[in-house]
Amino acid sequence: MNQRKLHPTTIAIRTQTEQTAQREHSTPLFLTSSFTFETAESMRAAFTDETDDNIYSRYNNPTVDEFVSKMVLLEKCEAGFAVASGMAAVFSSFMALMKTGDHIICCRSMFGGTNTVVTKFLNKFGIAHTMVETTDLSNWDEAVRPNTKMLYLETPTNPQLEIIDLEAAGAFCKKHNIIYNVDNCFATPILQTPVDYGADLVIHSATKWLDGQGRVLGGIITGRKDLIHEIYLFCRNSGPALSPFNAWVLSKSLETLDVRIHRHCENALKVAKTFENHPKISWVKYPFLPSHPQYEIAFKQMKAGGGIVCFELKGGIKSGSKFMDALEILSLTPNLGDSRSIVSHPASTTHGKLTEEERNAVGITPGLIRISVGLEHVDDIIWDIEQALEKC
Ligand SMILES: *Cc1c(COP(=O)(O)O)cnc(C)c1O
Repeated sequence: MNQRKLHPTTIAIRTQTEQTAQREHSTPLFLTSSFTFETAESMRAAFTDETDDNIYSRYNNPTVDEFVSKMVLLEKCEAGFAVASGMAAVFSSFMALMKTGDHIICCRSMFGGTNTVVTKFLNKFGIAHTMVETTDLSNWDEAVRPNTKMLYLETPTNPQLEIIDLEAAGAFCKKHNIIYNVDNCFATPILQTPVDYGADLVIHSATKWLDGQGRVLGGIITGRKDLIHEIYLFCRNSGPALSPFNAWVLSKSLETLDVRIHRHCENALKVAKTFENHPKISWVKYPFLPSHPQYEIAFKQMKAGGGIVCFELKGGIKSGSKFMDALEILSLTPNLGDSRSIVSHPASTTHGKLTEEERNAVGITPGLIRISVGLEHVDDIIWDIEQALEKC
């Protein structure tokens, strides 16, 4: 046993808080806001950072630490810190590592909340940004300024499923000596580990695939030890701590991540292939379909195509709402990465208040349907989409 180099999945499944005197097999849940000390001296030492003792659950908690350890292993990183949501992870990574006068480069296509933070809030603190074309790296060099501190990107992007070449982006960051920060939410560490391409930080909304059952909100940042320490100090004092209960749920969810993700991908590929030539659909986008514009990059850096499939319904907004209303199994809910399949039609829902022009600028076409393919039997998922298509 000692000689064997275990697979990361095995280590992640078997990583757990030290057993208590109760000899439990499953992991305990430490619902406590603070921890006691035997002596004044040990309490003093803990506060002066001379030990990594448990102090107060805003700083750390054994149940939260277990979730962090598993993610650090899966993402092949040196350290990590867990927070209350994906947006808390994104925001903390910005606030801890940038200051007034700095500049950040982001890919044009990103999660809506991240886009709002970058465009509406960072400038309040004097942090400028430049958005670059997601899939064309040829003019990224022009975006670099002497004060550029960070590159922030997502791949695959939400909801357009564009793929960014992680290796090329890594070389770009190295050349310009900037922090390479990747939101790995859509791929999960099962499909790609950005650290392999030089990423300094990897961010997740744990709310999505990591939980995988739509139960809790959570977020995590893993990465280089020195950067995580800065993020830890920021979070310890500003307070976006992950609840131990949510961490306990997430830690359990991670034990099935590998099996779940592979089944999601298998189902998603079948859905994508089934509807690729459907008469009511103008195009289907899925990273592992050869028709995807960045198929080769996806194939190079991902183990499978992920659980999200997008397609464009002929007939625009009206067809989109009819399709949504006709579904019998798939849920209409603003989430993704669940065992239950979820559908969204941004043009008539989340982006319904924008003008067509504004929607086009963020890549939301009128008939765009995004499906987060779940773990139901794939034939039932396909049946539901098929019968809804007939009605629109
Ligand atoms: C959902 C999501 C987030 C934000 O996560 P929350 O947990 O909802 O705060 C960030 N990035 C991506 C890609 C997401 O899909």
